[in-house]
Amino acid sequence: MKKLALHWQIIIGMTAGVVFGLILSFSGNSTFSQDWIKPFGTIFINLLKMIAVPLVLVSLISGIASLKDVSKLSRIGSKTIGIYLGTTVLAVSLGLVVVNIIQPGKYFSTEQREKFKEQYANKATSAKEDAGKVKTQGPLQPIVDMFPSNVFQAATSNSDMLQVIIFAIMFGVALVLTKPESAEPVKLFFAGANDVMVGLVELIMNFAPLGVFALLSSLIVDFAGNDPAAALELFAALGLYSISVLIGLAMMVWVVYPLLLKTFANYSYKRFTKGMSPAQLLAFSTSSSAATLPVTMEQVEKELGVPHELCSFILPIGATVNMDGTSLYQAVATVFIAQAFGMDLGFQAQLGIVVTATLASIGSAAVPGAGMVMLVIVLEQAGIPLEGIALIFAVDRILDMCRTVVNVTGDACVAVIIAKTEGQLTE
Ligand code: ASP
Repeated sequence: MKKLALHWQIIIGMTAGVVFGLILSFSGNSTFSQDWIKPFGTIFINLLKMIAVPLVLVSLISGIASLKDVSKLSRIGSKTIGIYLGTTVLAVSLGLVVVNIIQPGKYFSTEQREKFKEQYANKATSAKEDAGKVKTQGPLQPIVDMFPSNVFQAATSNSDMLQVIIFAIMFGVALVLTKPESAEPVKLFFAGANDVMVGLVELIMNFAPLGVFALLSSLIVDFAGNDPAAALELFAALGLYSISVLIGLAMMVWVVYPLLLKTFANYSYKRFTKGMSPAQLLAFSTSSSAATLPVTMEQVEKELGVPHELCSFILPIGATVNMDGTSLYQAVATVFIAQAFGMDLGFQAQLGIVVTATLASIGSAAVPGAGMVMLVIVLEQAGIPLEGIALIFAVDRILDMCRTVVNVTGDACVAVIIAKTEGQLTE
């Protein structure tokens, strides 16, 4: 019997997970999920995270080593960063347009506002503390943080991925510059190790349908507890805000990216979606671009036709710095909170949001909930009370799942465009 395509397997796993989660919730069995279902989701995410650092390291070094000259690397590097910035600014602007048209904060009743603020005040405080640490640093601190003082230490934490990337790029460049008789065995080692990593990703992905089943069913139970009706009520109260974010995100996926792909790469969006769907579904289930990275890399290389040397460079950087979905969400959330507090943000204030949301999304780690922590910076800059985060906390996880899909899709879209402009896209 022919094996079902991976994305179908994942979709079935997700649907079954949602149904099972609802059954557990409605029947009041939420502890069963905690004890017996959630652990499998955790194992799956851990496996994905486990390979993230070694994969980025091996793949980047082998990718750069296969570039013949360093000038090509700097050309591709500046192109990558330039396009990433461009798409992020586009996403923030789109978010601002949507939220200014829909104005979701205006329909929020004072009563609801007070209720949410009370309910989630503690959580907002902890997000504020996290962001407070970021805020007290100097303006160049994010750049200083990119350079590791100890690469082995950097490799022990997935949140220091950017440091691992910097090391790998420098190592790869040095490898290209080294005399052939010394460089050759090292290159061979990394090329071989890269193949092994790809095999490892495939091995782990066999577990994906079960993994997403466990992730989604426990997520539903966590969200709804033993009272799904209350959860629904909450979502409805924040419905217009959520819809604004979702409309913006959907426009990125179904309007902006197809247009960019068509214009700059003459690339079929059908092929793009078909190739990317396993990574998108995984991004949705895990809410983490970093955890999805191994699969994104595999799909973009094998299905979309971007060569390894480009994928290995563009995608790890994208996963950490290019977050179109997150920046769009931050723009919508900021204006929503301002509206809810009865503040009117003028043109200049909104221009400020474009800048800070772009920077904040670059600074967000590729893990669940990171975008909300960095939102504090955007609010602060716009002079909006940080307590407002309490208003949107309840629906954040759902929106996080969706914005992560956009984050991952954006990276892949840029990879295709760069491969095309470099004349390296396999049709
Ligand atoms: N979860 C997102 C990601 O990993 C980041 C965020 O917006 O919270 O891409």
